[in-house]
Amino acid sequence: MKIGCPTEIKPQEFRVGLTPEAAQEIVSRGHEVLIQAGAGNGSGFPDADYMAAGARILPDAKAVFDQADMIVKVKEPQAPERAMLRKGQILFTYLHLAPDPDQTRDLLASGVTAIAYETVTDARGGLPLLAPMSEVAGRLAPQMGAWTLQKANGGSGVLIGGVPGVRPANVLVVGGGVVGTAAARVAVGMGANVTVLDRSIPRLSYLDDVFMGRLTTQYATKGAIAELLPSADMVIGAVLVPGAAAPKLVTRAQLSLLKPGSALVDVAIDQGGCFETSRPTTHQDPVYAVDGIMHYCVANMPGAVPQTSTRALGNATLPFVLALAGKGWRQALRDDAHLRAGLSTHEGVLTSGPVAEALGLD
Ligand code: NAD
Repeated sequence: MKIGCPTEIKPQEFRVGLTPEAAQEIVSRGHEVLIQAGAGNGSGFPDADYMAAGARILPDAKAVFDQADMIVKVKEPQAPERAMLRKGQILFTYLHLAPDPDQTRDLLASGVTAIAYETVTDARGGLPLLAPMSEVAGRLAPQMGAWTLQKANGGSGVLIGGVPGVRPANVLVVGGGVVGTAAARVAVGMGANVTVLDRSIPRLSYLDDVFMGRLTTQYATKGAIAELLPSADMVIGAVLVPGAAAPKLVTRAQLSLLKPGSALVDVAIDQGGCFETSRPTTHQDPVYAVDGIMHYCVANMPGAVPQTSTRALGNATLPFVLALAGKGWRQALRDDAHLRAGLSTHEGVLTSGPVAEALGLD
């Protein structure tokens, strides 16, 4: 099979669908890998690395889309990319179709067989192609919060780990899933005094076991959050209610409970945010103040560290890419119900129930 990987064209997207290591694995199984010239530059992979891996470099996106049997990307195809897709071709990438009727219409019109990373499942009920990005965002959250707390950036001027004789920062992590656990790990490592709140007792038990007394767990009620806010230096929002907008867990009125210059890091901003005063920001202009409280609300946090994010995503997608290339999409989906859960459109038919429901198409 010919597997094509174009340069991402969504603004501020520096990741790439295939690493040179992935290209080498694919080539070693007898397939052809076609990389658009410069596609890996943003992630630190020059064309030469892909050539050394046995891939062919093509001059532009059109050549990749024209020649490839399967396109492997990162972000949902943008309008000019959608115009190049065709029936009989496989598209494997993040799609997020539910809020995007234009993209859904274009994919259906193209006839492409589109498989969405974000709806591929695993045996434990998780989302294995979303989890690596949650790991990245979670580990970044205390780092960005620490930067936000610096005086010159508008923060209170507290050092996360303190120093001998001076207390460390108090960090609240609301939501103890993939993002929250990763955030807690880094915050603990930085020497913070960490409390994780969640509504799931099994999650709290897990965290209690794994961290062995190095953090505090607390059941997430409105009262518990209100009680903890006055002593918090940083609050990391990491909740997810699948298929729903994030619940607002800190109101504007409650900002007055926090110390001036405290940092709110709203990782759940891509689901609308879990603080009432959150609005999406960008890597160029990541923080703003409301009532003296600093807000960091970047919606695509993994984009800040494309070298790590590209590798993490590539590790997770590679087995599926190999299955699709080796068996063809029909057999690969027949053999693997978890990959089948990713099928979104095929030859003009919308195959995702939740997307149809969200778009009012069923
Ligand atoms: P997850 O499902 O692994 O964890 C979510 C946790 O929130 C669960 O443990 C759940 O019990 C808990 N929860 C739900 N409602 C709660 C409530 N009211 N109070 C306390 N806890 C509650 O999800 P995840 O992968 O950790 O993702 C968390 C959020 O981060 C999602 O909104 C996701 O989209 C977002 N995210 C953002 C970025 C970014 O760049 N900004 C990147 C990756 C993920």
